[in-house]
Amino acid sequence: MTLKLSRPDADVFVPDGSQVALALERTTHLAVGAHQDDLEFMAAHGVIECFQDPARWFTGVVVTNGGGSARDFEYQDYTDEQMMAVRRLEQRKAAYVGEYSAMLQLAHPSSAVKDPKQPAVVADLAVVLSATRPELVYTHNLADKHDTHVALALRLIAACQSLPADQRPSRIIGCEVWRDLDWLCDEDKVAMPLDRHENLHAALMGVFDSQITGGKRYDLATAGRRRAHATYSESHGTDQHSGLSWGMDLTPLLSGADPAELVERYVDRFRNEVAGRIGKLR
Ligand SMILES: [Zn+2]
Repeated sequence: MTLKLSRPDADVFVPDGSQVALALERTTHLAVGAHQDDLEFMAAHGVIECFQDPARWFTGVVVTNGGGSARDFEYQDYTDEQMMAVRRLEQRKAAYVGEYSAMLQLAHPSSAVKDPKQPAVVADLAVVLSATRPELVYTHNLADKHDTHVALALRLIAACQSLPADQRPSRIIGCEVWRDLDWLCDEDKVAMPLDRHENLHAALMGVFDSQITGGKRYDLATAGRRRAHATYSESHGTDQHSGLSWGMDLTPLLSGADPAELVERYVDRFRNEVAGRIGKLR
Protein backbone atom coordinates (compact mmCIF):
# COMPACT_ATOMS: atom_id res chain seq x y z
CA MET A 1 0.00 0.00 0.00
CA THR A 2 1.22 3.47 -0.76
CA LEU A 3 -0.07 6.21 1.41
CA LYS A 4 -1.29 9.01 -0.86
CA LEU A 5 0.03 12.13 0.82
CA SER A 6 -0.01 15.50 -0.94
CA ARG A 7 3.59 16.62 -0.28
CA PRO A 8 6.38 14.87 -2.23
CA ASP A 9 8.74 15.49 0.69
CA ALA A 10 6.47 13.80 3.26
CA ASP A 11 8.41 11.29 5.36
CA VAL A 12 7.14 7.89 6.47
CA PHE A 13 9.31 6.01 8.95
CA VAL A 14 8.58 2.61 10.51
CA PRO A 15 11.11 2.03 13.30
CA ASP A 16 10.83 -1.77 13.41
CA GLY A 17 11.04 -2.14 9.63
CA SER A 18 7.54 -3.56 9.17
CA GLN A 19 5.65 -2.81 5.99
CA VAL A 20 3.98 0.59 6.04
CA ALA A 21 0.50 -0.88 5.59
CA LEU A 22 0.93 -3.15 8.62
CA ALA A 23 2.41 -0.34 10.72
CA LEU A 24 -0.59 1.86 10.00
CA GLU A 25 -3.24 -0.84 10.40
CA ARG A 26 -2.02 -1.99 13.81
CA THR A 27 -2.21 1.57 15.19
CA THR A 28 -4.47 1.96 18.24
CA HIS A 29 -3.23 5.33 19.52
CA LEU A 30 -2.65 8.19 17.06
CA ALA A 31 -1.11 11.52 17.99
CA VAL A 32 -1.27 14.46 15.59
CA GLY A 33 0.86 17.53 16.31
CA ALA A 34 1.84 20.65 14.43
CA HIS A 35 5.61 20.56 14.93
CA GLN A 36 8.45 18.16 15.50
CA ASP A 37 8.66 17.63 19.30
CA ASP A 38 5.01 18.50 20.06
CA LEU A 39 4.01 14.83 20.34
CA GLU A 40 6.70 14.00 22.88
CA PHE A 41 5.78 16.99 25.05
CA MET A 42 2.01 16.58 24.87
CA ALA A 43 1.14 12.95 24.03
CA ALA A 44 3.68 10.95 26.03
CA HIS A 45 0.74 9.19 27.61
CA GLY A 46 0.00 7.48 24.30
CA VAL A 47 3.62 6.44 23.84
CA ILE A 48 3.73 4.85 27.29
CA GLU A 49 0.33 3.20 26.94
CA CYS A 50 1.67 1.35 23.92
CA PHE A 51 5.30 0.78 24.91
CA GLN A 52 6.19 -2.95 24.95
CA ASP A 53 2.52 -3.92 24.65
CA PRO A 54 2.03 -6.17 21.60
CA ALA A 55 -1.68 -5.29 21.41
CA ARG A 56 -1.21 -1.52 21.29
CA TRP A 57 0.65 0.65 18.82
CA PHE A 58 1.35 4.37 18.84
CA THR A 59 1.65 6.25 15.56
CA GLY A 60 2.82 9.85 15.41
CA VAL A 61 1.92 12.49 12.83
CA VAL A 62 3.77 15.81 12.54
CA VAL A 63 2.06 18.08 10.06
CA THR A 64 4.50 20.97 9.44
CA ASN A 65 7.95 20.85 7.86
CA GLY A 66 10.08 22.54 10.52
CA GLY A 67 10.79 25.51 8.26
CA GLY A 68 11.52 28.75 10.09
CA SER A 69 12.61 26.93 13.25
CA ALA A 70 14.61 28.81 15.88
CA ARG A 71 18.35 28.05 15.68
CA ASP A 72 21.39 28.86 17.79
CA PHE A 73 24.82 27.54 18.78
CA GLU A 74 25.84 24.58 16.56
CA TYR A 75 22.80 25.23 14.41
CA GLN A 76 22.99 29.01 13.99
CA ASP A 77 24.43 28.98 10.48
CA TYR A 78 22.14 26.27 9.17
CA THR A 79 20.02 27.14 6.15
CA ASP A 80 16.31 26.56 6.40
CA GLU A 81 16.75 23.37 4.33
CA GLN A 82 19.42 22.04 6.70
CA MET A 83 17.29 22.90 9.70
CA MET A 84 14.30 21.06 8.30
CA ALA A 85 16.52 18.01 7.77
CA VAL A 86 17.78 18.20 11.37
CA ARG A 87 14.29 18.42 12.77
CA ARG A 88 13.04 15.57 10.62
CA LEU A 89 15.89 13.37 11.85
CA GLU A 90 15.24 14.33 15.48
CA GLN A 91 11.61 13.29 15.07
CA ARG A 92 12.70 9.93 13.64
CA LYS A 93 15.01 9.45 16.63
CA ALA A 94 12.09 9.99 19.00
CA ALA A 95 10.00 7.46 17.07
CA TYR A 96 12.79 4.92 17.40
CA VAL A 97 13.27 5.51 21.12
CA GLY A 98 9.52 5.36 21.77
CA GLU A 99 9.00 2.25 19.61
CA TYR A 100 6.31 3.99 17.57
CA SER A 101 4.47 1.88 15.03
CA ALA A 102 5.00 4.58 12.39
CA MET A 103 6.11 8.19 12.24
CA LEU A 104 4.56 10.35 9.54
CA GLN A 105 5.92 13.82 8.80
CA LEU A 106 3.56 15.48 6.34
CA ALA A 107 5.86 18.43 5.49
CA HIS A 108 3.29 21.19 5.07
CA PRO A 109 4.25 24.83 5.60
CA SER A 110 2.59 26.34 8.68
CA SER A 111 0.67 28.71 6.43
CA ALA A 112 -1.16 25.75 4.87
CA VAL A 113 -2.28 24.58 8.30
CA LYS A 114 -3.53 28.02 9.30
CA ASP A 115 -5.48 28.67 6.08
CA PRO A 116 -8.88 26.94 6.27
CA LYS A 117 -9.33 27.37 2.50
CA GLN A 118 -6.37 25.12 1.64
CA PRO A 119 -7.67 21.55 1.44
CA ALA A 120 -4.39 19.58 1.45
CA VAL A 121 -3.88 19.28 5.21
CA VAL A 122 -7.41 18.03 5.86
CA ALA A 123 -7.12 15.63 2.92
CA ASP A 124 -3.83 14.19 4.22
CA LEU A 125 -5.20 13.80 7.73
CA ALA A 126 -8.27 11.99 6.38
CA VAL A 127 -5.97 9.58 4.50
CA VAL A 128 -4.01 8.91 7.71
CA LEU A 129 -7.16 8.42 9.79
CA SER A 130 -8.56 5.98 7.23
CA ALA A 131 -5.34 3.98 7.10
CA THR A 132 -4.91 3.81 10.89
CA ARG A 133 -8.49 3.74 12.26
CA PRO A 134 -7.24 4.57 15.79
CA GLU A 135 -9.35 4.14 18.92
CA LEU A 136 -7.87 7.19 20.56
CA VAL A 137 -6.45 10.39 19.07
CA TYR A 138 -4.29 12.99 20.82
CA THR A 139 -3.93 16.49 19.38
CA HIS A 140 -3.59 20.11 20.50
CA ASN A 141 -6.21 21.57 22.81
CA LEU A 142 -8.40 24.40 21.56
CA ALA A 143 -7.31 26.85 24.28
CA ASP A 144 -3.63 26.63 23.25
CA LYS A 145 -2.11 30.05 22.47
CA HIS A 146 -0.18 29.02 19.33
CA ASP A 147 -2.21 29.67 16.16
CA THR A 148 -0.78 26.69 14.28
CA HIS A 149 -1.68 24.34 17.16
CA VAL A 150 -5.31 25.48 17.30
CA ALA A 151 -5.60 25.53 13.52
CA LEU A 152 -4.30 21.97 13.35
CA ALA A 153 -6.83 20.76 15.92
CA LEU A 154 -9.58 22.32 13.78
CA ARG A 155 -8.21 20.71 10.59
CA LEU A 156 -8.07 17.34 12.34
CA ILE A 157 -11.67 17.64 13.47
CA ALA A 158 -12.65 18.50 9.89
CA ALA A 159 -10.78 15.41 8.68
CA CYS A 160 -12.60 13.20 11.22
CA GLN A 161 -15.93 14.64 10.14
CA SER A 162 -15.15 13.92 6.50
CA LEU A 163 -15.11 10.19 7.29
CA PRO A 164 -18.21 7.98 7.62
CA ALA A 165 -19.37 7.99 11.25
CA ASP A 166 -18.33 4.38 11.83
CA GLN A 167 -14.76 5.12 10.74
CA ARG A 168 -14.15 8.01 13.12
CA PRO A 169 -12.04 7.55 16.23
CA SER A 170 -14.03 6.96 19.39
CA ARG A 171 -12.19 9.53 21.45
CA ILE A 172 -10.11 12.64 20.86
CA ILE A 173 -8.12 14.43 23.54
CA GLY A 174 -6.66 17.96 23.31
CA CYS A 175 -3.24 18.11 25.01
CA GLU A 176 -0.99 20.70 26.63
CA VAL A 177 1.86 22.58 24.98
CA TRP A 178 1.52 26.37 24.79
CA ARG A 179 -0.74 26.77 27.80
CA ASP A 180 -1.54 24.10 30.30
CA LEU A 181 -4.99 22.87 31.28
CA ASP A 182 -4.83 23.13 35.05
CA TRP A 183 -7.58 25.78 34.81
CA LEU A 184 -10.17 23.22 33.65
CA CYS A 185 -12.60 22.19 36.41
CA ASP A 186 -11.53 18.87 37.84
CA GLU A 187 -14.56 17.05 36.41
CA ASP A 188 -13.64 18.35 32.94
CA LYS A 189 -10.00 17.28 33.07
CA VAL A 190 -8.84 14.16 31.28
CA ALA A 191 -6.09 12.83 33.54
CA MET A 192 -3.17 11.16 31.79
CA PRO A 193 -0.84 9.54 34.36
CA LEU A 194 2.83 9.47 33.41
CA ASP A 195 4.31 7.65 36.38
CA ARG A 196 6.08 4.91 34.55
CA HIS A 197 9.21 5.06 32.37
CA GLU A 198 10.38 8.50 33.49
CA ASN A 199 13.71 7.62 31.91
CA LEU A 200 11.97 7.13 28.59
CA HIS A 201 10.16 10.48 28.85
CA ALA A 202 13.52 12.16 29.36
CA ALA A 203 14.98 10.37 26.33
CA LEU A 204 11.98 11.18 24.12
CA MET A 205 12.27 14.89 24.88
CA GLY A 206 16.06 14.98 24.93
CA VAL A 207 16.52 14.04 21.27
CA PHE A 208 15.18 17.45 20.20
CA ASP A 209 18.55 19.04 20.71
CA SER A 210 18.18 21.72 18.04
CA GLN A 211 15.27 23.30 19.92
CA ILE A 212 16.54 22.82 23.45
CA THR A 213 20.19 23.84 22.94
CA GLY A 214 19.22 27.40 22.11
CA GLY A 215 18.14 27.87 25.71
CA LYS A 216 14.53 26.78 25.68
CA ARG A 217 14.54 23.94 28.21
CA TYR A 218 11.31 22.38 27.05
CA ASP A 219 12.43 19.07 28.49
CA LEU A 220 12.82 20.39 32.04
CA ALA A 221 9.75 22.61 31.76
CA THR A 222 7.55 19.74 30.59
CA ALA A 223 8.83 17.37 33.29
CA GLY A 224 8.23 20.10 35.87
CA ARG A 225 4.72 20.77 34.59
CA ARG A 226 3.87 17.07 34.85
CA ARG A 227 5.22 16.89 38.39
CA ALA A 228 3.35 20.05 39.39
CA HIS A 229 0.07 18.74 38.00
CA ALA A 230 0.50 15.50 39.95
CA THR A 231 1.10 17.28 43.24
CA TYR A 232 -1.40 20.13 42.84
CA SER A 233 -4.24 17.99 41.50
CA GLU A 234 -5.48 17.10 44.98
CA SER A 235 -5.22 19.41 47.98
CA HIS A 236 -6.14 16.71 50.49
CA GLY A 237 -4.25 13.44 50.57
CA THR A 238 -0.85 12.39 49.35
CA ASP A 239 0.28 12.32 45.73
CA GLN A 240 -1.27 9.53 43.71
CA HIS A 241 1.03 10.07 40.77
CA SER A 242 4.56 11.28 40.13
CA GLY A 243 3.57 12.79 36.79
CA LEU A 244 0.32 13.86 35.14
CA SER A 245 -0.70 15.57 31.93
CA TRP A 246 -4.12 17.14 31.60
CA GLY A 247 -6.27 16.78 28.51
CA MET A 248 -9.36 18.55 27.19
CA ASP A 249 -12.00 16.13 25.94
CA LEU A 250 -12.73 17.09 22.34
CA THR A 251 -14.86 14.00 21.61
CA PRO A 252 -18.15 15.99 21.32
CA LEU A 253 -16.69 17.63 18.18
CA LEU A 254 -16.73 14.27 16.38
CA SER A 255 -20.53 14.35 16.42
CA GLY A 256 -20.79 17.95 15.26
CA ALA A 257 -20.40 20.14 18.36
CA ASP A 258 -19.11 23.64 17.60
CA PRO A 259 -15.43 24.08 18.63
CA ALA A 260 -15.83 27.62 19.97
CA GLU A 261 -18.95 26.69 21.93
CA LEU A 262 -17.25 23.64 23.43
CA VAL A 263 -14.31 25.71 24.72
CA GLU A 264 -16.66 28.44 25.96
CA ARG A 265 -18.51 25.81 27.94
CA TYR A 266 -15.26 24.75 29.65
CA VAL A 267 -14.36 28.40 30.32
CA ASP A 268 -17.86 29.13 31.70
CA ARG A 269 -17.61 26.23 34.14
CA PHE A 270 -14.23 27.54 35.32
CA ARG A 271 -15.64 31.06 35.74
CA ASN A 272 -18.66 29.72 37.65
CA GLU A 273 -16.48 27.63 39.95
CA VAL A 274 -14.21 30.55 40.84
CA ALA A 275 -17.06 33.04 41.32
CA GLY A 276 -19.14 30.45 43.18
CA ARG A 277 -16.42 29.78 45.72
CA ILE A 278 -15.98 33.48 46.46
CA GLY A 279 -19.76 33.90 46.72
CA LYS A 280 -19.99 31.01 49.16
CA LEU A 281 -17.16 32.18 51.41
CA ARG A 282 -17.57 35.93 51.77
ZN1 LIG B 1 4.26 23.12 18.31
